[in-house]
Amino acid sequence: MAIWNPIKWLLGLLSLDLGIDLGTANTLVNVRGKGIVINEPSWVAIDKRTREPQRIGAAAKAMVGRAPANMVAMRPLRDGVISEFDITQAMLEYFIHKAHENSIVLFPHSRVVVGIPSGATEVEKRAVYDATMSAGAREAYMIHEPAAAAIGAGMPIDGYGNMIVDIGGGTTEIAIISMGGIVISRSLRVAGDELDQDIIEYIRSKYNLFIGEQMAEKIKIALGSAYPLKEEKTADVRGRNLITGLPEAIEVSSIEIREALAPSVQVIIDTIKDALDESPPEILADLMDSGICLAGGTSQLQGLAERLANEIRVRVWVAEDPLTCVARGCGMIFDDVEQYEGLLVGIERDPYSSGQS
Ligand code: ADP
Ligand code: MG
Repeated sequence: MAIWNPIKWLLGLLSLDLGIDLGTANTLVNVRGKGIVINEPSWVAIDKRTREPQRIGAAAKAMVGRAPANMVAMRPLRDGVISEFDITQAMLEYFIHKAHENSIVLFPHSRVVVGIPSGATEVEKRAVYDATMSAGAREAYMIHEPAAAAIGAGMPIDGYGNMIVDIGGGTTEIAIISMGGIVISRSLRVAGDELDQDIIEYIRSKYNLFIGEQMAEKIKIALGSAYPLKEEKTADVRGRNLITGLPEAIEVSSIEIREALAPSVQVIIDTIKDALDESPPEILADLMDSGICLAGGTSQLQGLAERLANEIRVRVWVAEDPLTCVARGCGMIFDDVEQYEGLLVGIERDPYSSGQS
C-alpha cells in the first residue's frame, strides 16, 4: 500500500508522463493526454573529431551521404541494440527536452516508460535507464518492445495466449504473451535494414550497379514483397556503374526484388515457427483462436501477412498504424501501472551500491 506523499503528488500535477519508443530506425515520444509529439529518425550527426552531436533526428538523417567533411551522420542503435552509448544518451535527452518544449509544465520531472529490445543486455538496460534519468526523468521504467507493441495494438494482455511480432529496422522481436506476462520471446537481428542490404547486394551482383541505402529502402517500400503481387510492378534504380564509374539508371521488377528478399524473409518466418515450436500446447491452442499480430515498419512489407498465414496456418494481421504501436503502448502503461507490472523490466541492482538487493 502506497503512502500518500504530498511532494510526489505535486510533482505529478506539474509533470508530463512520457512513453518513448527508442527504435533502431525511428524514435517516437508519446505524451500522456496529447499523443505522439515526436516521431523522428534515430539519426545523429556528430563532429568527426570531438564526437559531439551536431544535429539530431530528421536534420541528421537529411545529412546522410551529404555531410560536410568534418561531420558524419550515424545511427547509434543501428545493429539492433545500442551500439553507441553516449550518442544514444544525447539523442534521448534531446528528444525528452524537445517533448517538453511546448508544454506549460514548469518542471521537466516526468515519469517515463521506454521500450527496449528484448535482447538488451544488463549494460544496455542500465544505459537506457541512466540516460532517461539524466535527461531529467523523475521515474523511469522499461518494457520489452514486443510487450509494448502488443499493448499498443490493443491485444488483451491479461487473457489467454497471444502472439506479437514487431519487425522494425534492426530487429524482429517475437513474443508470446499470456496471463499478463511474456511466455516466450525471441529477438532476431534480421529486419528492415537487412532487407535494404539484400537489395544493394542483389543489384550489385546482377547489374554491376552500386546503390545507396536510401535508394535501396525506397525500392523495398515501392516494390518489395513476400508473396506474389496481384500486379507485379517495376521501378527505376539509380546508382553508380561499377565498371564505368558513371551514373546509371536501370529498371527492376517486383519479381526480382522478391527474389532478393526471399532468404531474409525466410529467416524471419523460420524464427516465428521456432517460437511456435517451443510453445506449450495450451498456448498453441489459444493462438489458433487469437492469431498473430504484426507491428513495426517492416510488417508493412507487401504480402508478408499473407505469406505467414499460408506457411503457419494461423490467422495473421497487421496492427493498425504499425509504426506507432510501441510508443502508444508505452504511453498506455500509465493508465494502469499495476495491470502492466508483470511486463515491466527491472535493472539488476548495482552490487557495489549501498542499497540491499
Ligand atoms: P524501429 O522500431 O527499429 O525503429 P520501425 O518500426 O520504425 O523500426 O520500422 C522501420 C523499418 O520499416 C525501416 O527498415 C523501413 O524501411 C521499414 N518500412 C517502413 N515502411 C515500410 C513499407 N511500407 N514496406 C516495407 N518496409 C517498410
Ligand atoms: Mg520498434
